[in-house]
Amino acid sequence: MSSDSPRRAIRAHMAAKPPVLPVSVSPPPAELFGRDLFNLKLMRERLPKSVYERLLSTIDNDAPISPADADVIASAMKDWAIERGASHYTHWFQPLTGVTAEKHDAFLTPTSHGDIINEFSGKMLVKGEPDASSFPSGGIRSTFEARGYTAWDPTSPAFLLKSGDRLTLYVPSIFVSHTGEALDAKTPLLRSQAAVSKQAIRVLRFFGNDRVTRVRANVGPEQEYFLIDRRLYNLRPDLIMSGRTVFGAPAPKGQELEDHYFGAISPKILAFMTEAENRLWALGIPARTRHNEVAPAQFELAPLYENINLAVDHNMLLLKILRETAAEFGLACLLHEKPFAGVNGSGKHNNWSLADNEGQNLFDPGPAPWANSQFMVFLAAVLRAVHKYAIPLRIGVTGAGNDFRLGANEAPPAILSVFLGDQLTDVIKAFIDNKADAETWRGGAMAPGVSAMAPLARDITDRNRTSPFAFTGNKFEFRAVGSSQSIAPPNIALNAAVACALDDICSELEKSGESDPQKAAHKVLPKFFQEHLPVVFNGNNYAPEWEEEAKNRGLWNLKDSVAALTHYSDPEVKDVFIRPGVLTERELLARQEVLYENYVKVVHVETKLVQSLGWSVILPVALTTLKKAADLVKAVADLPSPAAAVKPEERYYKKVYAHTAALTALLEELDQKHIELDATEGYLKKAEGARDILLPLLAKIRVEVDALELAVDDNIWPLPKYGEMLWQ
Ligand code: ADP
Ligand code: MG
Repeated sequence: MSSDSPRRAIRAHMAAKPPVLPVSVSPPPAELFGRDLFNLKLMRERLPKSVYERLLSTIDNDAPISPADADVIASAMKDWAIERGASHYTHWFQPLTGVTAEKHDAFLTPTSHGDIINEFSGKMLVKGEPDASSFPSGGIRSTFEARGYTAWDPTSPAFLLKSGDRLTLYVPSIFVSHTGEALDAKTPLLRSQAAVSKQAIRVLRFFGNDRVTRVRANVGPEQEYFLIDRRLYNLRPDLIMSGRTVFGAPAPKGQELEDHYFGAISPKILAFMTEAENRLWALGIPARTRHNEVAPAQFELAPLYENINLAVDHNMLLLKILRETAAEFGLACLLHEKPFAGVNGSGKHNNWSLADNEGQNLFDPGPAPWANSQFMVFLAAVLRAVHKYAIPLRIGVTGAGNDFRLGANEAPPAILSVFLGDQLTDVIKAFIDNKADAETWRGGAMAPGVSAMAPLARDITDRNRTSPFAFTGNKFEFRAVGSSQSIAPPNIALNAAVACALDDICSELEKSGESDPQKAAHKVLPKFFQEHLPVVFNGNNYAPEWEEEAKNRGLWNLKDSVAALTHYSDPEVKDVFIRPGVLTERELLARQEVLYENYVKVVHVETKLVQSLGWSVILPVALTTLKKAADLVKAVADLPSPAAAVKPEERYYKKVYAHTAALTALLEELDQKHIELDATEGYLKKAEGARDILLPLLAKIRVEVDALELAVDDNIWPLPKYGEMLWQ
């Protein structure tokens, strides 16, 4: 890039549009799907029938696998991987960093005769010992026993992943300490799945269902992301290191015209999406929907829903594949919750439901919800979960990045409420009065007014889309999850909260003395609905009045991560995780420390970025500009001019001077505060300092830098601008 005028070089880049890359030739989706998975079909072909059947029973009913069977499975897995060209395997796990971790080992093992053979034993499959002492554990491991163990999770199939032209066998695993304490996201996820299953089955039994043996949570996470030109990304150290732009004046055109949302997908982007989808399908990830999102350069990819364990693994893989494929297509995929100020951020709508092993969705209201007492029990449980356990759910979506969305005038607010729609809300109110009947259910059809079209079934759905937790027909959509976050923590909280709520309600049903489940429901549910009706809100969640009303209703409004994390030891938080056996008290409190630590680290990285960009990139350009303007002021000082004339050189000088002076003073203050806070002891104090001192200073500095961006000669501004990054 030419050094005399970065801007001119950027424009030249943009003018020379890169060719649309060809997508690799792939078989049709149905053939491609699951090609790189050690899936059930392969297992049936390659395993002895009895081993295959026992493995199936593990996958379906969590029956433990014997060491002998593990040996047979490992050997078949290894043969398949080597046939496909893999040389290494890795246990693939999800430590508390929020991202995935891997450590590759070759299949090679020396024999006693001095040669080398390919080996992958059951023992190697089942257990790994990475020297993973640097992962955060919140103090669960002391350094002298720092080892953590990875253990194969047979319920998520192993897969082959390509990096460059190297193929590696990935074995999804959990990560625990030598005492068996969870050091990862997956262990409590699996425990939460078992907990919610246990309580849901208890309710189903109460309603006379003796067949169901398992209930599973299904999740479909809709993933939002930005794509920008990689050459511009490479010129923004803030995007590279923190994922968001710490400076950047708004582009003349933002999202106000809404011409990007659902707009035609450009050939360049479509080529990227097609390639990414092919890679996802090969891994058995059911990518389904793709479209342009609200903000310019923003997109969404939604997979079909899957069992929660797979959905979590697949979302982690999806983030990786989006990032890597984008790089190959000359793009940068931005997964941060708020990469650009002033335009929409990115979230992840977490669609969640419960289904039993006969395929029945427990949130399907059926044609007559008012008479479907079993559905009403599950509905009451979700209302109770979101109302009573709002804090654990809020903690499940904490993160410095997500704070720019939640509670910051952007969708959705930090106040957790549930959208049910007017119809279902009326059914609940009628249920409280014991008057629920067909009259309260005003379903039916909506006529589009086009005679050739069949009437469309009117669905109960949240059309204003402002609710953080919306019932959308037969599932709940938790919309507060951040785009970069693992979906494990919010789903752990959700499963745990619903398990506790089902436990509470089912205990009352069992105590009611009514053997007829319908009668018991009518006796017990009104009290629960009455208690939890305040969490139902069908209005506009962005309206300022809502904040006031939510306060009157006694709902929590924990606007930022630190506010949420200070409630970590509240009784409801402990109860929700400890009672259903999802986390022990020690595991729970260790996670609080890790979350604080992570928050502080993120804000400190952003602080250092602002310091270095401010002093060494922005200020020099501002000073160059000042010098030029000062020279001009001097040069024209002696020239005759009309007395009342506007003196543009002086005005310009003063304007740039004011912002430069303010910027310098703020940078000095930031340097000082950063040193002070670095020396502060204790995570709570450090986190509060990051929130109350550093972040407001970063925001003030941004105001000055953005004003300078709008004033300084465009040819010498050193960073790509919003208009260039967002509109390409
Ligand atoms: P939207 O109107 O929110 O785009 P969609 O019907 O397109 O709704 O679904 C969005 C996501 O919800 C998809 O990932 C879809 O697979 C998932 N989904 C649909 N039904 C369920 C369900 N019963 N449980 C969990 N997720 C579901
Ligand atoms: Mg949705």
